[in-house]
Amino acid sequence: MARIGVLIETNEKSVKPANFGVLTAARGEGNEIYAFVLEADAAAFQDGLKAYGVSKVIAVGASDGDFSKKPDLQAAALVAAMKNVEITALLTLSSTRGKDLLARMAAATHSGLALDCIGVDLDAGTCVKPYFAGKTEATLKLSGDLFLCAIRPNAIEETEAPCDITAETFTADVTDDGKLVIKEVKASGSAKVDLSEANVIVTGGRPIGSKENFSILEECANAMGGAVGASRVAVDSGFASHAMQVGQTGKIVSPKLYIGCGLSGSVQHFAGMKTSKVIVAINNDKDAPIFTKCDYGIVGDLFEVVPALTAALKK
Ligand SMILES: Cc1cc2nc3c(=O)[nH]c(=O)nc-3n(C[C@H](O)[C@H](O)[C@H](O)COP(=O)(O)OP(=O)(O)OC[C@H]3O[C@@H](n4cnc5c(N)ncnc54)[C@H](O)[C@@H]3O)c2cc1C
Repeated sequence: MARIGVLIETNEKSVKPANFGVLTAARGEGNEIYAFVLEADAAAFQDGLKAYGVSKVIAVGASDGDFSKKPDLQAAALVAAMKNVEITALLTLSSTRGKDLLARMAAATHSGLALDCIGVDLDAGTCVKPYFAGKTEATLKLSGDLFLCAIRPNAIEETEAPCDITAETFTADVTDDGKLVIKEVKASGSAKVDLSEANVIVTGGRPIGSKENFSILEECANAMGGAVGASRVAVDSGFASHAMQVGQTGKIVSPKLYIGCGLSGSVQHFAGMKTSKVIVAINNDKDAPIFTKCDYGIVGDLFEVVPALTAALKK
């Protein structure tokens, strides 16, 4: 049994559900899990984490003061926090923030780094990462002082393993070199749910036809607490923002439910969503290629099927 660290992504004092798959991967065959949060109050996250085998949650801070806009300082503080509790392996979500922080930690410690992984074997010190738009998978052996691995959101099914949990604070004795400070963060789009971490995604393709028509998909996604995605054609046509694009040149997603509305089923689109647990296609052409790649297919006009589905969900 090893002691494994997991850097937790939080959202206004709650634990983002996408962390639970990462915690499940970290637990493996019974590893001891310490969760790190870059927040002031560790105790606030105990309830959200104890069901997933976390025995200790540590709020990491810096002696230099507020480091929320200083990613290099956060990375240095996390390295110090890991050393303090003798942890050499850290997993986190392969989100924008997770990838940024792990890369800084790897650079600072000359450690191996693997991002966007879909599996991990902590006993062997390896992880599995897809390449070439998901056509191949490589098993990577990481070297260096730390094992740093970011897991693709929703790639690993979460399972609960309740245990007793304690909370503590660790203030790292680190100082800022002043080279990098985040001045401003602007959210792209108005999505309430982050596409990469969503459990349900409703995606629109070319036939959506306009920005306004995306509202029918939004209504459907909202009814399930999900997010809205778009094909590249829909983005290139100006119907949706690039932040919503799913696929080889867009976001890689792995929700529990993916509903493709008016998508032909191109390989480039599937490169971004084929690891979805259940794929539903709505297409008015019964011979559309997407029907050979989905779990459930609905032959019909999306402008009739989607509002009917939303109405049924609202009931
Ligand atoms: C290098 C490269 C990278 C790419 N990267 C991406 C990427 O990241 N993401 C991506 O999506 N694409 C990507 N593409 C583009 C990709 O090849 C396809 O062109 C694109 O995915 C097709 O988008 P679509 O399914 O929305 O449109 P189409 O292929 O035009 O399909 C529309 C489908 O909607 C159906 N339909 C029409 N009207 C209705 C209706 N009223 N109701 C229901 N169904 C209807 C049609 O039968 C058709 O099957 C890339 C291409 C290249 C070359």
